[in-house]
Amino acid sequence: MPLSRRRFMRETALAAGGLALAGTTRAEKDIPMSTDRPLFVSTWAFGKDANEQSLRIAEQGGSVLDAVERGIHVAEADASNASVGLGGIPNARGVVQLDACIMDGEGQRAGSVAAIEGILHPISVARRVMDETKHVMLAGEGARQFALEQGFASVDLLTEERRKAWEEWREKQGAADNHDTIALLGLDGEGRLAGGCSTSGWGYKLPGRVGDSPIIGSGLYVDGGVGAAGATGLGENVMRYCASFLVVEYMRQGLHPEEACVETIRRIVALDPRPVEELHLNFVALDKQGRFGAAGTNEGFQYAVTYPGYSEVLTGVGVGTGEIGPEGGNRR
Ligand code: ASP
Repeated sequence: MPLSRRRFMRETALAAGGLALAGTTRAEKDIPMSTDRPLFVSTWAFGKDANEQSLRIAEQGGSVLDAVERGIHVAEADASNASVGLGGIPNARGVVQLDACIMDGEGQRAGSVAAIEGILHPISVARRVMDETKHVMLAGEGARQFALEQGFASVDLLTEERRKAWEEWREKQGAADNHDTIALLGLDGEGRLAGGCSTSGWGYKLPGRVGDSPIIGSGLYVDGGVGAAGATGLGENVMRYCASFLVVEYMRQGLHPEEACVETIRRIVALDPRPVEELHLNFVALDKQGRFGAAGTNEGFQYAVTYPGYSEVLTGVGVGTGEIGPEGGNRR
């Protein structure tokens, strides 16, 4: 149910204890928010199918955490998605190495896996790390061994199509590569927040390279009392700024999620020596009131929003003037 911006600004200012908050993004418009639950927000157009699966899981009685995890499975199992799980672009040696994390706003619990190989659903391994161990993050061979001990199957994630593309890339090193992430945020009727993200990372990356996605506070952050945020884009530019944590902190100060994403980008742009068009940063955010939004350093960042009776792909605010990659994804 959309709220007018004026009403939103008034409510936000009240929620923020009278903080003077200038509108930092678009002037008059309907503010993205929903009073319907459960509500799911994720990165990119491909997030829509994942959100819809999350909604189904929640409607079947799953927790918001279950819903986030199972929604992300959809992207991880989709061999046509070059950025996540099966069919993800491999590293420079032709090996698919995956990063994922999950976070529960209840109790600030988190689990993460980095550079894991040969496991179809790294998001579920991250959840096991959270639920079954005393740790938050497992990496590389240790993460894989843990997954196998937990009963996950060993899977060849490199599809024929990606193997051929990798061979071509090897011939002409430096050709354009691609990368995206599914970051999926959820809010249920009890106000419980959860989030997760999963990616094969920067295409043809150095073996062992870990991006922002499995790093709590960088690729994802959930504060159960405030909101959740997730990132997609060049991980190297996200993790130097703990950017998802920063988005949540701006929401804590009273900003609408869309404005929190914009302010995070502005802050990074002000600090970083590179021009905004070269940073390749995109954020989605969702607060405890059901307000949501997204912003990117270029125009055209798409994100998906789903709640009962509604599932759409929307476009976030573009802070820079450049265009997003021709296929709608991140491009270096
Ligand atoms: N953030 C991911 C990484 O750097 C890639 C992406 O989302 O585009 O690994």
